[in-house]
Amino acid sequence: MKVIVIGAGVLGVSVARHLALAGEEVLLLDQGDAGTGTTATTFAWVNSYRRLAPDYHRLGLAGMEEHARVAEQLRGVPSYFPSGALQWADSSSEQWLASNVERLQSVGYAARWVTSEEATRIAGDVRIPATITSIAHFPHEGYVLPDLFVSNLWADAEQHGAKSAIDKVVAIDDRPGGVSVTLAGGEVCTGDRVVLAAGRWTERLAAQVGIDVPMVTDFGRGSQTVGLLGYAKSPELDLHCVIHSPGLNLRPAAGGHTVLQALDLNAEVDPVDPPSADGDIAKTITQRFTALLADPSRAPEIDLRIGFRSLPVDGHTVAGYASPRSRVYCLVSHSGVTLAPILGRLVAAEIATDQEQDLLRAFRPTRFIGVRRSDIEAPQRATALGEQ
Ligand SMILES: Cc1cc2nc3c(=O)[nH]c(=O)nc-3n(C[C@H](O)[C@H](O)[C@H](O)COP(=O)(O)OP(=O)(O)OC[C@H]3O[C@@H](n4cnc5c(N)ncnc54)[C@H](O)[C@@H]3O)c2cc1C
Repeated sequence: MKVIVIGAGVLGVSVARHLALAGEEVLLLDQGDAGTGTTATTFAWVNSYRRLAPDYHRLGLAGMEEHARVAEQLRGVPSYFPSGALQWADSSSEQWLASNVERLQSVGYAARWVTSEEATRIAGDVRIPATITSIAHFPHEGYVLPDLFVSNLWADAEQHGAKSAIDKVVAIDDRPGGVSVTLAGGEVCTGDRVVLAAGRWTERLAAQVGIDVPMVTDFGRGSQTVGLLGYAKSPELDLHCVIHSPGLNLRPAAGGHTVLQALDLNAEVDPVDPPSADGDIAKTITQRFTALLADPSRAPEIDLRIGFRSLPVDGHTVAGYASPRSRVYCLVSHSGVTLAPILGRLVAAEIATDQEQDLLRAFRPTRFIGVRRSDIEAPQRATALGEQ
């Protein structure tokens, strides 16, 4: 079978790899280089911290487990780190943390309370402020280095025969005899199936084939899609795990760099007029970061970048054929880093074997058929941990 995968983000590359491993002929198309869409600007925390719907939590747990399996299979510089995560609360957030720990423990998620001394040993090179009143440890969570992860997945896919091309897809034709995809350069590629994994661009492409994948398509100030990240180049830190502190989330990046996220500031970020290096938002992030440094004497150097979430309108993953007769398989998720390994394996299995995978049943795009957009409860802007 020949499968054309549109979109070389973390989801498309993961599916392409599994299809290639299954012996299918794969052509991966992207308008740019692999991993340069939303996957290039992500916090990349691997977790199932706040998936309140049981089906979604099950998928999240499977995603966490699958990361470990994939890491054993991939060559190249390690890109997945099962580091665990720490969450620190102060007097204003300790109740919220306690209720989350209780809820997670009740569903068997690894979560435990730790002392400040133990947290310092787990965390590495940061200072826990005196205002912190409780700390929870989530030992099975982790993070990935997204660019390395995508390149490791793709290297393996290529080794198993997958091919790629850089060009923009301008049309998709879904017919009983097969699918065809037209590229901006004029070339037409034909295949047996298409996987539409075009991230935040999916709704528009799907609409061309009469498929409704309703997504949040507002990318302006105040939209739930807008997510700011800080990339701290200095001081270099020996951070050992993901840390969620009041006002600032941190995860290690390559070379002692740190990725920073302050969810409450997203509402003020205007993509048309991005925050400047010396503006209020940059100053706030710098202050919050400095407060966590063991040696606060050196002024941090932080680059700000805006990411845009790929967000189905009901907040849940979309995975499935648009209809029983369609040959176009839609795949979108706003938790794409956590879920890429498991979605890659299950989606490839559904395409290659035509066997429905139980974990994906709740996520079909057909759930939107006949439903008015105004009747769908849209996700709020991510302000709480686990919603990013
Ligand atoms: C600020 C922020 C923080 C996040 N934090 C986390 C987190 O902690 N944990 C987590 O699991 N997830 C997180 N996410 C979400 C996660 O990053 C995304 O779900 C994931 O990266 C989406 O991957 P993708 O492959 O679907 O999309 P993308 O990476 O956007 O890839 C889609 C690709 O499709 C291509 N494309 C689009 N249209 C066309 C076309 N017409 N022709 C050819 N190519 C096309 C694009 O060029 C792009 O490369 C976060 C996201 C943001 C923005």
